[in-house]
Amino acid sequence: MKINIKRVRILQDGVAKRGPVVYWMSRDQRADDNWALLYAQEIALNAKVPLLVVFCLVPDFLNATIRHYGFMLKGLEETMQTLSKKKMPLTIILGQPNKALPQYLESRKAGSLVTDFDPLRIKRIWKAEVASVISIPFYEVDAHNIVPCWHGSSKQEYGAYTIRPKILKALPEFLTPFPKLRIHPFRLSSQPPTANINKLVTTLCIDRSVKEVGWIHPGEKQAIKVLRRFLRHGLAAYAEARNDPNRSGQSGLSPYLHFGQISAQRIATEVMDAKVSKQAKDTFLEELIVRRELSDNYCFYNSCYDSFEGFPSWAKKTLNEHRRDRRDYLYSLKEFEQGQTHDILWNAAQRELRITGKMHGYMRMYWAKKILEWTKTPEKAMAIAVYLNDRYSLDGRDPNGYAGIAWSIGGVHDRAWNTHAVYGKVRYMSYNGCKSKFDVQSYIDNIKGYRHA
Ligand SMILES: Cc1cc2nc3c(=O)[nH]c(=O)nc-3n(C[C@H](O)[C@H](O)[C@H](O)COP(=O)(O)OP(=O)(O)OC[C@H]3O[C@@H](n4cnc5c(N)ncnc54)[C@H](O)[C@@H]3O)c2cc1C
Repeated sequence: MKINIKRVRILQDGVAKRGPVVYWMSRDQRADDNWALLYAQEIALNAKVPLLVVFCLVPDFLNATIRHYGFMLKGLEETMQTLSKKKMPLTIILGQPNKALPQYLESRKAGSLVTDFDPLRIKRIWKAEVASVISIPFYEVDAHNIVPCWHGSSKQEYGAYTIRPKILKALPEFLTPFPKLRIHPFRLSSQPPTANINKLVTTLCIDRSVKEVGWIHPGEKQAIKVLRRFLRHGLAAYAEARNDPNRSGQSGLSPYLHFGQISAQRIATEVMDAKVSKQAKDTFLEELIVRRELSDNYCFYNSCYDSFEGFPSWAKKTLNEHRRDRRDYLYSLKEFEQGQTHDILWNAAQRELRITGKMHGYMRMYWAKKILEWTKTPEKAMAIAVYLNDRYSLDGRDPNGYAGIAWSIGGVHDRAWNTHAVYGKVRYMSYNGCKSKFDVQSYIDNIKGYRHA
């Protein structure tokens, strides 16, 4: 089966050499259901050459800590074992991609290079740098979105209401079954050495001040287990339960999606086949497909996705008009980080994030909006929210995070609401509003019992 070529972009043209095809795995860290890997295999089979997979490990990546590196590397270990059985060895190389990757390609006499798509700035810089120093063909495949980001829309969308019809129209073309990854028949005469993941996790020179968490286990098999459990016990009630922080109404899949340990397309297919109400499926698929792909669209077409400059003009105008409004409370980054505000609900949400590495989706909105309210400027609020989310959240450093924070603080994908001090026309949220939606005290009490693993 041939891969739909609309999933593929050429980052660098060139004449393929007669060496192995290399898949530079980055965002989509899985062996199964991975369009980028499948495309790399398709080229390698046609050229009758080996297929090698490489992961470039960069310490000090966007405020990531051992919490993230541990989850990622343990997931990669499983992927490495699966790929080894498929005769496409996965090698981990250490260093900045612009140096480490060209050296690796040279040492393996690579014939062409394939990578997966990521709209984040740093990834695009890496790819541009690599493309500028290699001469072999270099392809990028969107293996994360169901509808490839550049195909879903050719511009930044205003909101879910503008991207939804485009995505829904394109879905039938892209929501196709995954072909099976074959055992690769063309191999190198000597296999590259495999990394010792345990050693890497303990010796890597990274920030170790944020602890790993024990409630969630990384890897492709675990991701599928969590999905199947959600299909059996969570999906039917998703529409009613997902906004109540006291109920485990969400799927819990975002860390796996973030590290690419599961494909959104696999999740969507299984949800569509589930025997639950259409309303439950539609509500979940709206989040998984429309909202998630809207976040990628935002980061892809707006290079200021994590700062004030990225906000829509109506939001910048209203926030500028309210710059001088009196703030009832002002907190430093440290006070936010330690959960030392006057608001016990906010502190509980921050504690949930710090200890578990995952804050409930509803609380995330309240959390980010209060950072705007209790900080001197929206620029500072944005920087603090991004820093804390990226540092503590297992699913941080994700387009969903940047879009979610920009929605909360800067009205991205939202509309103008009634004016409120500090917020201007950006949607306001209050403690009392939360009280009317769920049992705030029970959430706070529950979080008090959380301890580091
Ligand atoms: C301030 C703020 C920060 C956020 N930071 C992140 C982040 O760092 N990483 C992250 O993945 N999500 C983030 N979100 C979006 C959303 O809150 C999470 O995706 C969701 O809570 C993850 O839990 P889940 O997988 O159990 O979600 P479920 O409710 O089970 O949803 C399934 C999947 O749908 C997608 N999804 C759900 N809600 C949204 C949404 N609002 N926008 C885009 N996609 C969505 C996610 O991929 C999610 O994993 C943030 C939202 C806000 C308001």
